[in-house]
Amino acid sequence: MKRQDAIRHLEPTLQDRIDDGNGNLVEVNDDVIYSPTTASMDTVAGLRKVESMLPDKVETIFGQRFNKIESETDSSVTFSTDTGDKHECRFLINSAGQNALDIARSCGFGDSLMQFQMKGMYTMSETPIAKDYKMHVYPVPIPGAQNLGVHTTLAANGHVKVGPSVLPAFAAENYNGLENVTMGSFAEACRTYLTMIKSN
Ligand SMILES: Cc1cc2nc3c(=O)[nH]c(=O)nc-3n(C[C@H](O)[C@H](O)[C@H](O)COP(=O)(O)OP(=O)(O)OC[C@H]3O[C@@H](n4cnc5c(N)ncnc54)[C@H](O)[C@@H]3O)c2cc1C
Repeated sequence: MKRQDAIRHLEPTLQDRIDDGNGNLVEVNDDVIYSPTTASMDTVAGLRKVESMLPDKVETIFGQRFNKIESETDSSVTFSTDTGDKHECRFLINSAGQNALDIARSCGFGDSLMQFQMKGMYTMSETPIAKDYKMHVYPVPIPGAQNLGVHTTLAANGHVKVGPSVLPAFAAENYNGLENVTMGSFAEACRTYLTMIKSN
């Protein structure tokens, strides 16, 4: 496959030339994905907006973490949270991001899956620079790579992030030192890294 075709295979809408914002067409490097329709959002504000649009009969509960399923019938599931509260539902949708596997396991699924933890750090511009910097630019992912590749992100507050770095992490949300690291998470991380090294 030719290089350009290979890039189009990954990013079908990649254009050879892009508008620089002043009406000038400029050549783009083959190794980037120009994504004019991608945007960053303030997720908390976005979710608050979605919440405000929900019908009155929908109740949203904050500040509780799913703990485990307490009982189950053909038509309902009762689960507890870390505050000791119990909730009953017809369907339980597991959308807990990087905790989703732990929740799946507590429900008896996902034992054959592994979570590969990596720590990525970003540098943020000291001041908003959205005036000069108008869009996201992503590198074309390297097939088979275990990471995103360094990219720039224009944040909703006008600051620009550059990163990430790629470092091993020994627990979920292990941002500083040994934060959140337990013997169990350390053992699982080592197992996962060994599996990855062997598979390469
Ligand atoms: C630094 C960084 C930069 C990123 N940049 C980009 C980008 O530029 N473009 C892009 O497309 N993607 C990006 N991503 C990836 C993107 O953020 C994720 O793919 C996306 O957020 C996953 O959405 P999700 O709803 O599955 O999980 P999340 O957004 O992680 O949401 C999971 C939610 O579940 C909650 N939760 C966890 N455990 C429990 C529990 N036990 N009980 C109750 N609630 C729980 C969490 O608090 C969280 O609110 C980035 C990720 C990171 C970390």
